[in-house]
Amino acid sequence: MKRIQLSANLFLDELVDPLTYFTEDDNGLSKIDKKLIPIFQLLRDKYGKSIGVNAWWKHLPLDMTNFDPAKFLESMIDQGVYVWSGYRSPSCKIGAAKSAHKQGKAQDPKGDEKAFFKIVCENAKEFYVLGLRRIENVKYTKGWLHGDTLTTNHQPNKIRIINPKTGDKRTDNKHAGDIDVLTGEVTMFKLI
Ligand SMILES: [Zn+2]
Repeated sequence: MKRIQLSANLFLDELVDPLTYFTEDDNGLSKIDKKLIPIFQLLRDKYGKSIGVNAWWKHLPLDMTNFDPAKFLESMIDQGVYVWSGYRSPSCKIGAAKSAHKQGKAQDPKGDEKAFFKIVCENAKEFYVLGLRRIENVKYTKGWLHGDTLTTNHQPNKIRIINPKTGDKRTDNKHAGDIDVLTGEVTMFKLI
């Protein structure tokens, strides 16, 4: 089976789960915000090394006769293989109902999140023009950088830095800072 290539280094299976991929007519392509594709590719080009998102493709059986995508999805989740790092379908139990992932507007590229964050700051204008609007505070993530195109509370020429769920009400899901797109400068707020 041939993978569906979206850009030089990105494949559709990295942005959708296997159940969506094998049950939707277009393999789930219409579920994702196409702006994610050049945003990913810019990060990949600047990073200069391979970056994964979802990782289930390489686990597909060689013989696809009697393949059951729902069972396969379940087994990937059981094994801790990434399946929800792009679009999160209604079968996904994690995250808020209207999250950027559920709307197909977010991706969690895997790798050195601090290096990713630096790349975004250094190329903020380019990322912004491609549609990147929010990233997660790398203080609270390890091994990936969440980026999305959601324009909630968007301020012009700012890439918003948001906290993930931190387990502390004072920091949970809070607006943590901004990257100034014109200068690449980062302002972080004192939340505690
Ligand atoms: Zn995310």
